[in-house]
Amino acid sequence: GAIVFKDVHFAYDPARPILKGISFEVPAGKTVAVVGPSGAGKSTLSRLLYRFYDVQQGSITIDGQDVRSLTQKSLRAAIGMVPQDTVLFNDTIAYNIRYGRTSASQAEVEAAADIAQIGTFIETLPEGYDAMVGERGLKLSGGEKQRVAIARTVLKSPPILILDEATSALDTRTEQEIQAALDIVSRNRTTLVIAHRLSTVIQADEIIVLKDGVIAERGTHGELIDRD
Ligand code: ADP
Ligand code: ADP
Repeated sequence: GAIVFKDVHFAYDPARPILKGISFEVPAGKTVAVVGPSGAGKSTLSRLLYRFYDVQQGSITIDGQDVRSLTQKSLRAAIGMVPQDTVLFNDTIAYNIRYGRTSASQAEVEAAADIAQIGTFIETLPEGYDAMVGERGLKLSGGEKQRVAIARTVLKSPPILILDEATSALDTRTEQEIQAALDIVSRNRTTLVIAHRLSTVIQADEIIVLKDGVIAERGTHGELIDRD
């Protein structure tokens, strides 16, 4: 599904517009990255696509259909999200990957875990697991939690993917490994990447630079680097 943002305006506080007429397209199967300084409104774009909030002017369409005309259920089925920080249940990795995907077979869970490179320990109870203290969070590293989120998304296999600063909390080596897994997951999917830095979105088909509520620049990584 192609995603089209058309003249999108949005403000949390009417006195302070965040998005002031944003127009761009993520063609079906392509990857578009949105970069820009912290507070520029990058994550707001993904929240509008997911309809946590609605645009105040303009529109967002998926395959020509306004997201406001889709049910929450069909929207959630169409979009997979690898969030910045994944909160896990105090249970096995396999349980966390499968959660909400009741129809998935064990083989499908294992295949998703393999792609995310956590296949060897999906039945492990992570360190810190304590059946008596069910609220206690899993003691997984940032990279491991990202892998669980990636495996969940692989299993869901949505046509549209949002990667919101998906590797920002990781050390360089883990970031490269996770990036490799994300590249596999986003292949042939319509993907919107939210990122701080140009260096993490070299592969994107187009990069949109947000600044002061408008698109300040756009182009491929090579084009944007040349202009600097
Ligand atoms: P980015 O992802 O580019 O860092 P965000 O889209 O998260 O930026 O936020 C854009 C601006 O909107 C920021 O100034 C932020 O403080 C503000 N903001 C974000 N969420 C809310 C909210 N729920 N209520 C009010 N202001 C918000
Ligand atoms: P599921 O994977 O069960 O289908 P979703 O795809 O709706 O669930 O969301 C995956 C995870 O991302 C959930 O933890 C959800 O709370 C979180 N999430 C979804 N959309 C956003 C968003 N725009 N901003 C932050 N977190 C989100």
